Amino acid sequence: MKKIALHWQILIGLVLGVVYGLMFGSTVNYISWMGDLFIQALKMIIVPLIITSIVSGVANIGSGGNFGRLFTKTFSYYVITSTFAILAGLLFVNLIKPGVGADINLVQSVDGFAAKSQSFQDTLMGIIPSNIFEAMVNGKMLSIIFYTMLFGYFITRIESKHKDLLTNIFNSGFDVMMKITLFIIKFTPIGVFALSAKLMATQDNPLGTFQSLGLYMVTVVLALAFHGVIVLPIILRFVAKVSPLKHFKALSGPLLTAFSTSSSNATLPYTIEAVEENSGVSNKITSFTLPLGATINMDGTALYEGIAVMFIAQAYGIHLDILQQLIIVVTALLASIGAAAVPMAGLVMMTIILSAVGLPLEGIALILPVDRILDMCRTTVNVWSDSTAAVTIAKSEGETLKV
Ligand code: ASP
Repeated sequence: MKKIALHWQILIGLVLGVVYGLMFGSTVNYISWMGDLFIQALKMIIVPLIITSIVSGVANIGSGGNFGRLFTKTFSYYVITSTFAILAGLLFVNLIKPGVGADINLVQSVDGFAAKSQSFQDTLMGIIPSNIFEAMVNGKMLSIIFYTMLFGYFITRIESKHKDLLTNIFNSGFDVMMKITLFIIKFTPIGVFALSAKLMATQDNPLGTFQSLGLYMVTVVLALAFHGVIVLPIILRFVAKVSPLKHFKALSGPLLTAFSTSSSNATLPYTIEAVEENSGVSNKITSFTLPLGATINMDGTALYEGIAVMFIAQAYGIHLDILQQLIIVVTALLASIGAAAVPMAGLVMMTIILSAVGLPLEGIALILPVDRILDMCRTTVNVWSDSTAAVTIAKSEGETLKV
């Protein structure tokens, strides 16, 4: 019998999970442990994967003396596409105006949000860790990335005997991590089944909230679709000169995983595997661009932040002029860079933008009921954007790809 491809298995898991959650919600505790274990397994591999991947990536790039150039190129690409995403979001929210006349009685409690949010200063200061082990234990990705890039870069600056030894060790470590990843990936359909069942079972009155926030959701989804289906494919077609459709097919597994886990970090192992194996990008490029992208390149989140803030302003009847919308562009970009690649991180970062334009933090309560669902959509766009960056940069470095 022909084996069903993984992305179909994941899709089947997702659909069965939704049906199970809606029909047998009260028994969801019997199966939710499978989703929890799956997420734990993904979290287990993420820090060692990022460390081995970035050190080996940077050491391999750095040997050719290309690190600075590649870093600048990658970073610029991330900033440009995220800005495009925010502009698309602002365009749609200004056209559709989903918040005008919205029912603000839906308000839930937002206790704890202000406490959870960080200032930009904290985020920036945190990039250089005072204790790298503490950063690793707490999964502080920006610090880990900064340190591992430094480590990888300076490997290339030592005596070649030691350089080769360390490069080999990290290359081998990365290979092992990818093998573990492939092993865990096999369990995705089961994990996705349990996660989506739990999500459905724990939404109180999903249809009711969807109705009152329907237009807001439509705006977010339309803008995400515009960015993911039009803007990024245009870059793939005309800048990278590859087939967007082929690349999309190559990425179907990671995209479905992003959708069901709502975490770019948890999806990172899949993204690396698919961009290398299916799209044909070299390990040298993926091992550097993708972990960096998962952490700082969040087009979907950036777009979402812009729409959400405008929606809240509209709901409160507050007019934001062009200058204030410009502040939204800049702060949404920074918030998306600073947001952790985990579920609902984007919502926490919104406090920063709301304060920047002087809106009440309670506004977050308005969008809270549907955030989890929209998180699934924006995370999918985040991962899609990371993968398009890897492809575009690989092509610009003269690589021959499979897409
Ligand atoms: N969940 C998103 C991600 O992991 C971040 C966010 O909440 O927007 O990419």
